[in-house]
Amino acid sequence: MHKGKSRGGKRGAGKAGAPAPDLVDAPYRKNELVTADIIGLTHDGEGVGRADGFTLFIQGALPGERVRAKVMKVKKQYGYARLEEILEASPSRIDVSCGIYKECGGCQLQHFDYDPQLEWKRQHVVDNLVRIGKLRVAGEEERGGAGKAEDDAEHGNRAGGTDAIIVHPTIGMDEPWRYRNKAAVPVGRGAEGEGLQAGFYARGSHRIIDMDDCLIQHELNDEVIRVVKRIGRELEVSPYDEETGRGVLRHVMARTGVVTGEIMVVLVTNSRKLPSADRWVERIREEMPAVKSIVQNVNERKTNVIFGDETRVLWGSEVIYDELDGIRFAISARSFYQVNPLQTVKLYRKAVEYAGLTGTEDVIDAYCGIGTISLFLARKAGRVYGVEIVPEAIEDAARNAELNGIKNATFEAGPAEVVIPRWREEGVTADIIVVDPPRKGCDQALLETILAMEPKRVVYVSCNPSTLARDLRVLEDGGYRTVEVTPVDMFPWTTHVECCSLLVRKDN
Ligand code: SAH
Repeated sequence: MHKGKSRGGKRGAGKAGAPAPDLVDAPYRKNELVTADIIGLTHDGEGVGRADGFTLFIQGALPGERVRAKVMKVKKQYGYARLEEILEASPSRIDVSCGIYKECGGCQLQHFDYDPQLEWKRQHVVDNLVRIGKLRVAGEEERGGAGKAEDDAEHGNRAGGTDAIIVHPTIGMDEPWRYRNKAAVPVGRGAEGEGLQAGFYARGSHRIIDMDDCLIQHELNDEVIRVVKRIGRELEVSPYDEETGRGVLRHVMARTGVVTGEIMVVLVTNSRKLPSADRWVERIREEMPAVKSIVQNVNERKTNVIFGDETRVLWGSEVIYDELDGIRFAISARSFYQVNPLQTVKLYRKAVEYAGLTGTEDVIDAYCGIGTISLFLARKAGRVYGVEIVPEAIEDAARNAELNGIKNATFEAGPAEVVIPRWREEGVTADIIVVDPPRKGCDQALLETILAMEPKRVVYVSCNPSTLARDLRVLEDGGYRTVEVTPVDMFPWTTHVECCSLLVRKDN
């Protein structure tokens, strides 16, 4: 994030005379205790505090609160402080149920009540649309301010605000816990020499904190992690050491098909050789009979990336199966599969609804992964063309179509920004284009191809509101109108927010 760019405090506010230059820029020193009023929440979930006009980012503080905090780091226009005491609590503050929340970097918002959290996520989306996309959002006109009219005139749209974008309330979960179907945790040696540990990196560091229970994780995944740790200690496997690059076991990944109950265990190792591989298999199966697939992935590189290129099945199936809305999916170790299945169904149904299918349309599903959205669409479309960069995912997608007797979906592996322009040259047309890119958003070449192909509708599924806003602006300028946006909470208690957006051609 670009902290400080627009959030700078009034430099040296309240200081008389001509203070020393360092005081002009930073009115506080490290370790100083300050009282701050919290006026907002950053996109990483830190409270934005104001102390005498100076901006301090305070993890754990909520908007509307007044807190005591200890200054930890001071920059020219802003600083970071540690929450010490809450002087006036927000009505949205709740008790945290997780014992490791303070240390763990996984969740950021467990102190924030669920309903206001959902509201905050919606507002976060709105702010991005307005600030980055320069888009007009219904209900936000009064927040607009100077410059808005010119923007509108320049972009030639939204006259009178009659067609402002509707941003719906965030679709939340009834029971926002234990939702994750996948856990991937680093393995290492405990700081106090406790031997093999696995858990998570402490907030903002690579120190591993041992974890046996994560409240947003499916119980079976937590069990896999506990079992693998136990076996690892039993077999005296050496944990990986990031500093030296030595040690065998780097990561454990557990994935559970929540509907089918099938489990995959992936051991990520530092070399091809996994000592006592047979014992590993035997012991995992003994402890967890529901395990259907035990896989080794080899990552010999000194990198933060979890997976290496080589994957081999140690025992059982190469894939596990899961079901979404009655469609069965085979999922292999390296394929992307949404982590919150209950919310995924809501998200995909929204995407299908926005696609407005009548049964005859040609649809392109870009960034299709294992063909999940594609197959949801195929049930209501004429033809679906899916494209995805990971070849294994495309193999899964083709298998998934077959598995479900779906004959009107075809898939191709490659970059969407290369494959779709080629399809266009080959004469493929699309009534609807669905995109679901990774966090960095759509490639410019893809956006240009979408504009050139002139689909009636574009459905944009996004896991990053800022790149969504950027890309919507390109599509708006190219002749599309963003009609509505529905945020879906795929990751309760974290700052992440997913959105499904509908765009239509303005000349339609
Ligand atoms: N729609 C799928 C996957 C979404 S995640 C689902 O809901 O499950 C984004 C996907 O984009 C990942 O599978 C990733 O491998 C893929 N991807 C990343 N860059 C790509 C590119 N340039 N072209 C095509 N696919 C890409």
